[in-house]
Amino acid sequence: MESHLEDRDRVGVADAVLLEDFTNENAFVNNLQKRFDEDVIYTYIGPVLVSVNPYKELNIYTTADVKAYEKKNFFEVPPHVYAITDTAYRSLREENREQCILISGESGSGKTEASKKVLQYISEVTERKGEIEKVKNKLLDSNPVLEAFGNAKTNKNDNSSRFGKFMDIQFNFEGNPVGGNILNYLLEKSRVISQAPGERNFHIFYQLLKGATQETLSKLSLKRDLGAYYYLSNGERSQDFNSNDLANFNEIQRALSTLEFSQEVQNDIFTIISAILHLGNVGFSEAEGKAVILKPDLVETIAKLLNCDSEKLQLSLVQRTIETIRDVVTTPLDRELAIYARDALAKAVYDRLFTWLVKRINRSLQPSDTRRISVMGILDIYGFEIFQKNRFEQLCINFCNEKLQQLFIELTLRSEQDEYQKEGIQWEHVTYFDNKIICDLIEEKHKGLIAFMDEECLRPGDPNDLTLLAKLDKQLSYHNHYISHKKADVKLQKIMGRDEFRLIHYAGAVTYNVKSFIEKNNDLLYRDLREAMCSSSNSILQSIFTESEQRSKKMPETAITQFKNSLNNLMVILKDKEPSYIRCIKPNEFQKSGVFDVEIVKHQVTYLGLMENLRVRRAGFAYRRTYELFLRRYKSLCKDTWPNYRGSAKDGVQHLVCSLGYEAEEYQMGKTKIFIRHPQTLFRTEDAFQVK
Ligand code: ATP
Ligand code: MG
Repeated sequence: MESHLEDRDRVGVADAVLLEDFTNENAFVNNLQKRFDEDVIYTYIGPVLVSVNPYKELNIYTTADVKAYEKKNFFEVPPHVYAITDTAYRSLREENREQCILISGESGSGKTEASKKVLQYISEVTERKGEIEKVKNKLLDSNPVLEAFGNAKTNKNDNSSRFGKFMDIQFNFEGNPVGGNILNYLLEKSRVISQAPGERNFHIFYQLLKGATQETLSKLSLKRDLGAYYYLSNGERSQDFNSNDLANFNEIQRALSTLEFSQEVQNDIFTIISAILHLGNVGFSEAEGKAVILKPDLVETIAKLLNCDSEKLQLSLVQRTIETIRDVVTTPLDRELAIYARDALAKAVYDRLFTWLVKRINRSLQPSDTRRISVMGILDIYGFEIFQKNRFEQLCINFCNEKLQQLFIELTLRSEQDEYQKEGIQWEHVTYFDNKIICDLIEEKHKGLIAFMDEECLRPGDPNDLTLLAKLDKQLSYHNHYISHKKADVKLQKIMGRDEFRLIHYAGAVTYNVKSFIEKNNDLLYRDLREAMCSSSNSILQSIFTESEQRSKKMPETAITQFKNSLNNLMVILKDKEPSYIRCIKPNEFQKSGVFDVEIVKHQVTYLGLMENLRVRRAGFAYRRTYELFLRRYKSLCKDTWPNYRGSAKDGVQHLVCSLGYEAEEYQMGKTKIFIRHPQTLFRTEDAFQVK
């Protein structure tokens, strides 16, 4: 049975390449809606899976469903994340090709859930014995831990990932998971010190306060009262506990144990979390331009918790030491700078704790035998972001999406080309927009946006956001994809501020506000604070601050350069893998089931580049199938091939299409597959088949 051709009227087409008018965005979105209304959330564009978040539990992830997809031909079962995973897994096992599954989409569209389904599927179709089962449990348990520390409630998603993640599942030659490795990207650390109205800090803070025993709380000098902590309330009303904070706290303790975190290490983690909460409550007054700590007792408490030099910590919060070539100068901080230093410390500690966690999890996931390992990577990373005000973080995220688009172009067009070549089909050139020009604008050495940003950040004197903007305007205005306020036309000038610039991304134009660019890019932590942390006997602090101490001999890399480098590393990793794509879409802004907001969906279809994707896929042939499968389905339509054709499947198909009256330009015969140009041809055949 060819599942992709079933029930076109009721649930639309399972593969958008079968839409008659493939250039029509409305038709594409209508098709998604038709399916969504029937609780069919998955649709293909060729091999790409489009997933629309149903915001309700669907009964499509049971063990029976796993079985229904196991070792099935991609085209004989309805679209599903399991089909994608199974195809990737089989290619890994049978053809020994390393895989990556790239999941993208807006916040709340279902990326993280999809990534968990991939892992669940793999876990269910592989062996359940001893070591393998243990590895699987570790892989599965890394999720709740990373979500506790890296996810938070935002206004878009109650469980929003605030970091990017690339997780490798490592398989042995028998195709069983034997290890894993996780790379993390760009944690939104500013969330540690403040959150937008209606949003929460990272889950772990609430889970600890809700789940810890009274005894633990008093050891940590904590109260079970969210309102007591400035970092959870911004000094105003705090968000509430979630109903699952308690259960999740127990869950992550269990998961940490599975991942071989000893009780002492777990205590060290929670001590750091509590120290951060206390740190937020350290206030300052000012006398004669110098910051004065309001409650020295509190700093004392923090020093005790972290077992670090209390005086050192006190001083580090109100003064700053700078080493010049000739001598060492200590200057007092005013109140504003002291607050800045305190917050910088909280962010740095949390950010490094997170990276340390990932490293420790990786240690536990290392396979005991690294020979003949092949990997399937799963990338769950922020999609394109456009807000009312777009900041440094959006620039990083959107740059990341440009890079992924580059990869997409390279890999999918290459694979189209490969297939035509392999099949001996005449190559049809496909035109598409190559976004390399935008990647270059951002990252090119010495003359890209990042280079100028770094240059300004590291310039002596008094670089600030506006001098940075002036430099960017001066250096980049020549570029077609960079629009300065000055270069903008009258209409655009009205919506662009004087502290903004605009980039024309592949997915559309985005205006960025340069406020805090310099500060965020420099990402400075005063040396005094680092030294105070180094004096701690907390095992984690010791390891996360001494490492950086050693590095600081060199010129530190700016935040965006670090990000650029980690992205380029990722590209290298992904480039030699076979990719599968999952494009996630959220149907509405309210996290509600049953509501399909056409405008919201259209917006995402644009920014995910799906129409372009469809166009490229359709530029050649809408439909291709191996001769065996094609013959198996339609052999009854021709007396020469019914009930069985004695010759080769290819000859059989040739007979079949001749008797069906296919015109020469409608199809081509490859080595193993028939390629059909337009879906109408196929539908004609399919309708004849149905009638019969
Ligand atoms: P972010 O970028 O903010 O991390 P995301 O794309 O990872 O967002 P998810 O956290 O995966 O989004 O999904 C948001 C919520 O949508 C989930 O918590 C879940 O309630 C619901 N959801 C997502 N996918 C599915 C699905 N396949 N079935 C049922 N509910 C889903
Ligand atoms: Mg997520």
